[in-house]
Amino acid sequence: MGDFECMAISDGTFTYEPPLIPPPATFLFANAPKELLEQALSEHGIQSEQWVAFVSPFTCVMVNTGRHKVLVDTGADGLTPNTGRLLRNLHTVGIEAGEIDTVILTHGHDDHIGGNTDAKGKPAFPKARYVMWKEEWTFWTSEQPEALYKNEDFAFTRKNLLPIQDQIDLFDLEAEIVPGIHAVPAPGHTPGHMAVSVSSNGKQLLCIGDAFLHPIHIEHPEWHATHEVAPEQLMNTRHLLLNKSATEKALMLAFHFPFPGVGHVVRRGTGWQWQPIQRLT
Ligand SMILES: [Zn+2]
Repeated sequence: MGDFECMAISDGTFTYEPPLIPPPATFLFANAPKELLEQALSEHGIQSEQWVAFVSPFTCVMVNTGRHKVLVDTGADGLTPNTGRLLRNLHTVGIEAGEIDTVILTHGHDDHIGGNTDAKGKPAFPKARYVMWKEEWTFWTSEQPEALYKNEDFAFTRKNLLPIQDQIDLFDLEAEIVPGIHAVPAPGHTPGHMAVSVSSNGKQLLCIGDAFLHPIHIEHPEWHATHEVAPEQLMNTRHLLLNKSATEKALMLAFHFPFPGVGHVVRRGTGWQWQPIQRLT
């Protein structure tokens, strides 16, 4: 990306399936009219009755700006057997946890903050400033999650948030985190979900976190998953991100899209379409 080196780094994959979630088509597109949904799925080669498990990648982003080493999201170490590969994969590309000076957390869900701390509960990135949206931090460190998501346990979340409180820097305005990297408010999936814009030398990468969970959400931004905190707000966020990406010719990187989750959004009729790219030149 211009003068910056950006890498999609896999933390692994997780298979979402009943009884943890409803069948994927219902879970991801909770409010989609059945006929339109069947049509959209078949265009993507998916038969809804046979789609019993949603195998989702967890893709973090490593940015070396030359002056800063910045990580976006920390994956889900210890949450599932197939995740927690972030540090090993960073090591493979020559980056150690102690070198990272900034860790940006798009939101407080377990799969995005699960590598914040190590097995002893100490910050896994000891020299890093951790960055999160203020409302998001307040939400996850309060009693609100228990009130909103009944019968869920948030011990894992707090194990990964409370130990970083001396290193956290909270944002409540669209602002620069380090030169070339901006926090972009993108609420709806969670109360203080944020996107991250990485710009250098006329190129931009927009890390959209979980604002879109599946490429069909690009085509149908009005369809949302069952567990969105504020669906109306999410619709607004999605339209802002799609317009930003198109007008500023930014590449998008989506945490849960097929690895590496990178692509362009292009206009199709009155809507949008996802054009994934496998290799950057
Ligand atoms: Zn997620």
